Amino acid sequence: MQRFREGVHIRTMKAKRKVEEVSKEDVQAFLKKNAFVLFTVGAVVVGVALGFALRPYKMTYREVKYFSFPGELLMRMLQMLVLPLLVSSLITGMAALDSKASGKMGMRAVIYYMSTTFIAVFVGIIIVLIIHPGKGSKEEFGKQQKIEQVSPADAFLDLIRNMFPPNLVQACTQQFKTKYGKRVEVMESTREEVIPVPGQVNGVNALGLVVFSMCFGLIIGNMKEQGQVLRDFFDSLNEAIMRLVAIIMWYCPIGILFLIAGKIVEMDDLTQMGGQLGMYTITVIIGLLIHGVLILPTLYFVITRQNPFIFIAGLLQALVTALGTSSSSATLPVTFKCLEENNKIDKRITRFVLPVGATINMDGTALYEALAAIFIAQVNNMEMNFGQILTISITATAASIGAAGIPQAGLVTMVIVLTSVGLPTDDITLIIAVDWFLDRLRTTTNVLGDSIGAGIVEFLSRQELRSKDVEMGNSVLEEKERKKPYKLISQDSDLENDKRAHSESHM
Ligand code: ASP
Repeated sequence: MQRFREGVHIRTMKAKRKVEEVSKEDVQAFLKKNAFVLFTVGAVVVGVALGFALRPYKMTYREVKYFSFPGELLMRMLQMLVLPLLVSSLITGMAALDSKASGKMGMRAVIYYMSTTFIAVFVGIIIVLIIHPGKGSKEEFGKQQKIEQVSPADAFLDLIRNMFPPNLVQACTQQFKTKYGKRVEVMESTREEVIPVPGQVNGVNALGLVVFSMCFGLIIGNMKEQGQVLRDFFDSLNEAIMRLVAIIMWYCPIGILFLIAGKIVEMDDLTQMGGQLGMYTITVIIGLLIHGVLILPTLYFVITRQNPFIFIAGLLQALVTALGTSSSSATLPVTFKCLEENNKIDKRITRFVLPVGATINMDGTALYEALAAIFIAQVNNMEMNFGQILTISITATAASIGAAGIPQAGLVTMVIVLTSVGLPTDDITLIIAVDWFLDRLRTTTNVLGDSIGAGIVEFLSRQELRSKDVEMGNSVLEEKERKKPYKLISQDSDLENDKRAHSESHM
């Protein structure tokens, strides 16, 4: 009996120790796996706290610039990778699929982009009409500045012009932008006419590079043997850039901390956030929340039947980076990493959908532009009729496509929306005070929209991916098969696996 009791005691102790060991290991594994996310989220918290702690010291502009230097470095590092990443991922993404498969996938992506952008615009308009933050007076706003006028027609043509850059090297640094000049006609009476003249602005012409890379990738994908060298080259380039991204990710938390702290130290007094501007800020936040937390996850769930919040949890680092950098294109490298490594999205999908999405799909920006335009109308005491609201929704969509994925680009393209319905463009300056903050939130929504799009397009394209796998024996999917609830591998390989499992169980 005594021995029996001792035996039970020893067994209980062993079991207890085992539980302790397992839980310790579990915690370690959890920390290791989520280290990046924890660091990055921690960085936001520390950044906000540090920013507010330093505000009473009233730093000069120069001091703030020095203080945010580590953040500036992060922006530069990420931007350094965007160009080669965008080009190599799109080329390899397109080359990995035949024209039929990429055509179908492209269609799905475009339908997703268009429908979510329209939904976002719709949400923005409904929310601003319900809350009605503008009260028909401009007195409480700061002084206004002059904003350069742009005709919507020229802006639209510039968008198309930028799709076809005449010089690829220049496209890496500059975009086309119509400027206005004067032409004087001296005939019987002197007549002066304002005419559009070609002009350039600094910044990567992402749209042009996207169009070129997609066409180029499609061509080398169809070139069989002859295209192999180029396919290998861009594949290897892409892989190398992703390894660089992995290194830079370690620096992300530090950079984000200083970017956020620097911005909080720099921002104007919060007292002007009262009144109309405060209501406007709240309206934008509610709109973005409805779109990002309700509509997009519901769409993901309805289509894929999977938990959208697990998917979003895998994206956390990209979302925080978007919040810190307020640039969806600088966030692109991190978005790639999160989707491919945490959410196990097929590389052929991410390489295709993400760069295009980061360039043209901006749900947050579209929502913001429509909402802001109607807010400005409300401040000016102008009632919008249905036709004008329709015009705003169309131009806000176009403006979001045309906006570059850089900080506050949406504010620049707002001019198009305002001129299209005859609102004063100078009134953009009314909302400048809060734009740095709202820009971060809409950029996060933009990145979320692109990422959920990648998840949805992958789910809808599983047939094509599967058949392509059978042809090529793709290795990307083999690993997914173990982790995904839905299967992407071919039935043949299912059979193979079954056979293998069967023979193993007999061993
Ligand atoms: N900053 C935004 C982005 O990069 C664009 C915008 O200003 O709305 O996605």
